[in-house]
Amino acid sequence: MEYAALADYCRQLEETDADERLVATLAELFQTADDDHLPLVVTMVRGKVAPRWESLELGVSSSLTQAAVVRATGVDPDALEDAWRDRGDLGAAAEWAVANSRQTTLFAESLTVAGVHETLRELAGYEGDGSHDRKVETVAGLVSNADAAAARYLVRTVLGYMRVGVGDGTVRDAIAEAFLDVPGEPAPGTPSATAPAVAAVERAFQVTNDYRVVAETARADGADGLAELDVELGRPVESMLARKAEGLASGLSSVARVGAEDGVEGDDGRDPADLGGPAGETETADATDEPDWRGRVLAEVKYDGIRAQAHVDGETVRLFTRRLVEVTEQFPEVVDTLRERVTAETALLDGELVGYDGETGEPVAFQEFSRRIRQEENVAGLAESVPARFHLFDCLYHDGESLFESSLSDRLGVLGETVAFDDTVCRAGSTVPDSVADARGFYRGAVDDGHEGVVLKNRAATYQPGRRVGQMLKHKPVMEPLDLVVTRAHYSEGRRSELLGRLYLAAYDPDADAFREVGRLSTGYTDEELAALTERLEELVVARDGRDVDLRPEIVLEVEYEELQSSSEYDSGFALRFPRFLGVREDLGPTDADSVSRVSELYESQ
Ligand code: AMP
Repeated sequence: MEYAALADYCRQLEETDADERLVATLAELFQTADDDHLPLVVTMVRGKVAPRWESLELGVSSSLTQAAVVRATGVDPDALEDAWRDRGDLGAAAEWAVANSRQTTLFAESLTVAGVHETLRELAGYEGDGSHDRKVETVAGLVSNADAAAARYLVRTVLGYMRVGVGDGTVRDAIAEAFLDVPGEPAPGTPSATAPAVAAVERAFQVTNDYRVVAETARADGADGLAELDVELGRPVESMLARKAEGLASGLSSVARVGAEDGVEGDDGRDPADLGGPAGETETADATDEPDWRGRVLAEVKYDGIRAQAHVDGETVRLFTRRLVEVTEQFPEVVDTLRERVTAETALLDGELVGYDGETGEPVAFQEFSRRIRQEENVAGLAESVPARFHLFDCLYHDGESLFESSLSDRLGVLGETVAFDDTVCRAGSTVPDSVADARGFYRGAVDDGHEGVVLKNRAATYQPGRRVGQMLKHKPVMEPLDLVVTRAHYSEGRRSELLGRLYLAAYDPDADAFREVGRLSTGYTDEELAALTERLEELVVARDGRDVDLRPEIVLEVEYEELQSSSEYDSGFALRFPRFLGVREDLGPTDADSVSRVSELYESQ
């Protein structure tokens, strides 16, 4: 398949914002791709050359890409910079550069989808001295063989952000639309797919975390083939995430209501418990019209550490974070203990790694503990000064069988049989409360022990990877800070004039795969923190206008604030009042940031 053909589809996608048209166009692309190309276009249409679980980074900055475009096309660097600023996107500027190039070596070879894919995967492996120059050369080589339209998408692929409006849900629906013929109710937002077809694709993606495999299987073996797909050890799965409880009492009854029958929330992503209006911190859970939650809810300590999943396959043990990055090497004490203490032949375990002070035995703050991920040297020294404990709270796979569709109670039963717990690899603290007072006592104990709060879980619910679900609610003492993405910035005046001191923050809108601004931040950081942040943000600049820069949305900041206001100034419709910088969320990617609907819920609940 010619790369130009893929670029043509990308253009059609970019020019559409109607859901049905997006799904129809993407489905047509999937049908057009032959068997060899289908797995490639499935990721490349989202600007990636690897499935999600592989977490492969190309490590290409916008300045590197700019240099490559200049080299390939011979355009004047300042003119490219102007084109970039005018168009607000380096892909569009590259398109302009190719159209205006005087270079005669352009289009020497025709560019194929497979060729681009292979070249970019190789590029991801360049390391060490000279790797920067090799990357420039490689990207320049690709651009010089691209026509103007292809250059637009090639450059966006290199930068890892396609901007054609295709999110996970669009890919799922398009696979169902293209390849499945399952009777049932029509699926919303699709031309002709059915809800059961979409559900079959969704389940297959949950267990494999790989749309390449899902698309190939759907085409070759239909829904029956998809049903056969299962977890594979070494291929990390997405974590199930909690929503926020509006208080302990309402949290207990709300959790008991969600997910017990089918484990799945409503399609609009709202927790059915929210539909009756905001619930306050009251004791009304005891009122007669509330469902009886007693016995149905597990309250667990919420640890402030690193979410991790362990893949155990005989003697081979691997650890992955919530961002699916492998951290096996960084936690030798945990890996060794798992090797000894897991009695099953194969298992996939979910839990939280928490650092404890080697001397006092108290849990250490996340910022301190996360050094164990960032620092590659002195692993043994850190393991000694900040030893980790792995608090396990789920078992997703056991001796060849996936447990996603088992109830939490059953999964925990299996967990108990799978691991001979000790101090390093232990069960997360939990209780099944039988009164609100009981739950409150447990929660206070957790906070007094230096942990974050509690997580309430429906004991009958299934595991929903990659979702924030209402069957699991977290409760913490204070109004929790938001995790937001930096999308634009402005250089400060005066003393900090070299630094990007005003940062525009955005929440994620998963439906549109876009970022919506909620305010700007200019306090809370030290000069050093700001200098470090500026250095990282400058790598992400996609357009400049005087002292303003537009950024590739990549860095997630944790931000506290005093209040949320409604606002016409920002495209989210909300504005943070008095935001303050708390830290960089190294463990989160841009789409893990808090969503616009979360911001809206918080606004409603103040
Ligand atoms: P947050 O990052 O505030 O959205 O909270 C969700 C995170 O809480 C998860 O990603 C886990 O890393 C963490 N967590 C800590 N303790 C638990 C627990 N017992 N059950 C589930 N998640 C937990």
